[in-house]
Amino acid sequence: MKVLKFGGSSVASSENIKKVIKIVKESSLQTNVAVVVSALGGVTDLLLKAGELACNGDEAYKEIFKTIEDKHITVVRELIPVNNQSGVLGHIKKMLNILENTLEGVFLINELSAKTSDKIVSFGELFSSYIIAEAIKSNHLNAELKNTQELIVTDENFSNAAVLFEKTNANIEAFFNQNKAKIVMFPGFVAKTEKGEVSTLGRGGSDYTAAIIAAATNSELLEIWTDVSGMYTANPNFVREAFPINNISYQEAMELSHFGAKVLYPPTIQPILKKEIPICIKNTFEPKAEGTLIVKTSSNNNPIKGISHIENMALVTIEGGGMIGIPGISKRLFGALSSEKISVSLITQASSEHSICFAISNKDASKAKQAINDEFSYEIEQQKIDPVIVEENNAIIALVGDHMKSHQGISGKMFSTLGKNNVNIRAIAQGASEKNISAVIAHKDIKKALNVLHAAFFENQTKQLNLFVVGVGNVGGKLLEQIKQQQQYLIDNLKLQVRVIGVTNSRKMFFNEDGINLDSYQQGLDNGETLDLDLFHKKVTELNYRNSIFVDNTASAKISELYADYLKESVSVVTCNKIACSSNYTNYLNLKQLSREYNAPFLFETNVGAGLPIIDTLKNLIASGDKVTKIQAVLSGSLNFVFNNFNIETSFAEVVDLAGIQGYTEPDPRIDLSGVDVMRKILILARESGSRLELSDIENDSFLPQASLDADSVPEFLETLKTEAEHFNKIYQNAAANNCRLKFVAEYDNGAANVGLKEIPSDHPFYNLDGSDNIVLFFTDRYPVQPLIIKGAGAGADVTASGLFADIIRIGNN
Ligand code: ADP
Ligand code: ASP
Ligand code: MG
Repeated sequence: MKVLKFGGSSVASSENIKKVIKIVKESSLQTNVAVVVSALGGVTDLLLKAGELACNGDEAYKEIFKTIEDKHITVVRELIPVNNQSGVLGHIKKMLNILENTLEGVFLINELSAKTSDKIVSFGELFSSYIIAEAIKSNHLNAELKNTQELIVTDENFSNAAVLFEKTNANIEAFFNQNKAKIVMFPGFVAKTEKGEVSTLGRGGSDYTAAIIAAATNSELLEIWTDVSGMYTANPNFVREAFPINNISYQEAMELSHFGAKVLYPPTIQPILKKEIPICIKNTFEPKAEGTLIVKTSSNNNPIKGISHIENMALVTIEGGGMIGIPGISKRLFGALSSEKISVSLITQASSEHSICFAISNKDASKAKQAINDEFSYEIEQQKIDPVIVEENNAIIALVGDHMKSHQGISGKMFSTLGKNNVNIRAIAQGASEKNISAVIAHKDIKKALNVLHAAFFENQTKQLNLFVVGVGNVGGKLLEQIKQQQQYLIDNLKLQVRVIGVTNSRKMFFNEDGINLDSYQQGLDNGETLDLDLFHKKVTELNYRNSIFVDNTASAKISELYADYLKESVSVVTCNKIACSSNYTNYLNLKQLSREYNAPFLFETNVGAGLPIIDTLKNLIASGDKVTKIQAVLSGSLNFVFNNFNIETSFAEVVDLAGIQGYTEPDPRIDLSGVDVMRKILILARESGSRLELSDIENDSFLPQASLDADSVPEFLETLKTEAEHFNKIYQNAAANNCRLKFVAEYDNGAANVGLKEIPSDHPFYNLDGSDNIVLFFTDRYPVQPLIIKGAGAGADVTASGLFADIIRIGNN
């Protein structure tokens, strides 16, 4: 004989029930079958809700009752042939009447005992098993309905009753000894006490019913039919990459279900363990899928079979000097919890015995606190033990596998993976049998922790980078274009999956949690929400993706002020915006410290020389022990462009105009022409070289005439460039007369820095600097005479975007 169990979603509608009947029919062609069914999907919750509302004197329970009534009547009408319908409807209506009367009783007396609640909730399975049995019979199959309440006997722990196996097994055996039907249908979940009162086996208990029947009848196989294709490597609702485990041992399945894999009700394995009856978890909606086979010894040699988690846990700590070396503390502690029927999921105790820490369900937290404080009231009063500390909103995450014992480094990898991703571990437990390693983490970190662990233990190590991109103008637009073009290459060659999860322009923002299609992000923005930087931050932190990167493509001071908030959430920051790094030194230092503290890179290579690897090179020099003594550089692509094109034929004003049109200048050209932009850059290089300079420490010998310096607006400023043409021409002519070219040079020397326009003779490395190129000369202890030179295009959207992209990839390769 075979036992088949169908869960709530498998029997949620007449359409689904037809699939169930097909599966039952096929099985019954080969062997006798016992079929256990849950209530129609969602009905148990509705029944519980109706009971609760009725108890609170809320008439809304009637609407819920009506929903339950309609659901079942609809299924009967759709499933049972017309000529049988009235009989079946009549029976269902009779049962519905009893349910309605019970609910009314609860409503009138405003009282709902666990016993009455069980009576109410048992209707779910009683309805479903009756209807499905009738539907099977109307398919001309040899079927019978047997109420499990006449077979399964329990204690009086209503809502979570314990089975009395001796009586139960005898009843089941006796029943099957006289049974003649090929197919027997049973309601799952429901039972009765020895006194004949209705009891239930706990939420999800239909799996258990099926296992009890399978064990009592020595069945050849127990099939659990559900809505997923087996027991997955992790909860598939949290980890998209999770996949069904083909083969797993009883112990492993038990551990996984105990630690939250809801697909199997934890006690299910117990009755069949000794009999070694295999369990197969199958998908009603994909019956051909292999599913998961649960057997005594798994043939799957992977040391880790799955990762599971339990939400809503509270971490309880009891500590105090008075606990050391005193026998019986644990006994009293766990005795106090046990008498309150609080179950403990994880325990750790330091060897000093100074503290004991354990995890329980959030809902038991205040009961536990009270019980422990009462138990140890004397010791607390004597200050030998501190009052108990309860921290809610935690979760347990567990790695499970029978063979972890024989593999070294698993816990190391588990904790370093969590650590690297800034998931704080509050408590750890690992049994000596090493079938599971579990850790307590904050509730908010569940999704990230599951995903990083799954990636580390089950995936082919493609690293996902999740970008939140602010600004999609010149530079940002180019960056998205480059990412789109390289996405596949990065997966294939660097095992990096770069996804853009959120973007903003100056007005709108939009997100796609699965990654934005970069062909149509503009459209997404057009239809997006109004930009709200607080909401943007909230969304990034709520998503809590591993390897999240905030990318700033703007020149906005407001955006640069947000970096600290992102770094504190372990979100990396990549920026071409120079404001943060050239703001006051304390702020710069704080950002660098936050980056270290939260393990979130803060990269700004494009702050100097666009895409040229200047800062990265400097960092490598310093990290390898070199010391920068002097920097000489031409760092303004825009000023270089301006002075390369300015001559007698083309006026200064015209050249500045042209630089603007070609995108070489900042939106406000005064920032370039005043030298402030170059001051910021040399300041950043000086700081990266280890100097504590402020912007105000940098000497700026401006070449602008007073009228230009005094201009209040951009148009006014541009106008002065025309009126002051003579001033600029003179500068040019003087240089030409000396056979020199004009370069705006930045210099850092022994802790001091200055910027200014210089006449450069023809034998100087700066003389032939073309177009908008930049050049940096690093003089260091190791390069004292011949400097380390970096030279190349130092402005323009394309190269800046590629510099940002390089920073992003740097984080990926980290
Ligand atoms: P049924 O109603 O058939 O008893 P359940 O809802 O009790 O089904 O269990 C199936 C659900 O368990 C799946 O839909 C899935 O959301 C959840 N689940 C949690 N962890 C796992 C896991 N590791 N593998 C498979 N499913 C899981
Ligand atoms: N119907 C019950 C519940 O939803 C039992 C089960 O489906 O296993 O918990
Ligand atoms: Mg279930």
